[in-house]
Amino acid sequence: LEWCVSVPKVELHAHLNGSVRNSTLFELARVLGDKGVIVFSDVENVIMKDDRTLHKVFKLFDLIHILTTDHSTVTRITKEVIEDFAAENVVYLELRTTPKRNDSIGMSKRSYMDAVMEGLRAVSSVDVDYSPAGLKTNTFNGSTRKKMYVRFLLSIDRRESTEAAMETVKLALEMRDLGVVGIDLSGNPIVGNWSTFLPALKFAKEQGLYITLHCGEVPNQEEIKAMIDFLPHRIGHACCFDEENWRKLKSAKIPVEICLTSNIRTETISSIDIHHFVDLYKAKHPLVLCTDDSGVFSTSLSREYNLASSSFGLGKTEMFQLAEIAIDFIFADDGVKTDLRATFEEAVKKLN
Ligand code: 5GP
Repeated sequence: LEWCVSVPKVELHAHLNGSVRNSTLFELARVLGDKGVIVFSDVENVIMKDDRTLHKVFKLFDLIHILTTDHSTVTRITKEVIEDFAAENVVYLELRTTPKRNDSIGMSKRSYMDAVMEGLRAVSSVDVDYSPAGLKTNTFNGSTRKKMYVRFLLSIDRRESTEAAMETVKLALEMRDLGVVGIDLSGNPIVGNWSTFLPALKFAKEQGLYITLHCGEVPNQEEIKAMIDFLPHRIGHACCFDEENWRKLKSAKIPVEICLTSNIRTETISSIDIHHFVDLYKAKHPLVLCTDDSGVFSTSLSREYNLASSSFGLGKTEMFQLAEIAIDFIFADDGVKTDLRATFEEAVKKLN
């Protein structure tokens, strides 16, 4: 595991509210418990429980959102999550989150994202570059401190309407200069229809935003086919594909974000030895290891690398290459890619 921690890594599939530390969730629950908003022991039971089936996970998210959805808490968790990834030697992070509107506390999707940005600016353990092409932050230039790139993806929740999805896309366009690079479609896969989100996703793509979709978490082959035909820039999971969609995915060469622990714990894949990682890896299909929800699934990106290595018999050379090739699939410009490749080159010298 230590070696996996020391390798520089690229994280492309991490949900903000799924990556919150347990200690923070407990602290928040205690405060709300004292105020009588929630019953602390109920929350404790849900957070500590081992049951993480897909159905239960979405219930857990509803609970987490009660604990975290106010501006100052969103700022706090953003800072903590970014610092946790930095501590793991993540050198490029694409963090995704669903902008939330909550009129009762005066929260709009924009003010939610402003709170996220404040959390990013509060990061103190590393120098962060969050601006697109060439517009580097002051601290980043010439500094000898550890550095990290952070970009954002705005998630559309499958419970949302076409209008709400469109609002998220417009917000992403507004926030491009602040490091928002794309759109994700996520949320409970048995809720909502592809046709509801398609207009907003199409608009996003036309406007030059990158798109990644949660695809194939349940065996809805018609939706999977429609998603591949849309040609997103990446997809997440790809667990329940039939043979025809599998062939389509491979010929379209769409990179896949692989979340091993998440797939096992949600029981989307019954056992690690039959995980589709193996088939995609052997076929040299573009793929990247990711955490999904490091808090909810009690994992880290280093643990995911360690798990892949021990489960699929990959040595250090293969693991390093796997980490490095992820640079090809990031939603950032060539300048960032070149800089990241240099970071990996430096690291390989130190590790050998
Ligand atoms: P947030 O967007 O609130 O920062 O992060 C939590 C949200 O991400 C959840 O409410 C859910 O919409 C989405 N999410 C997190 N993990 C998963 C997953 O494994 N599958 C899907 N489909 N959505 C997820």
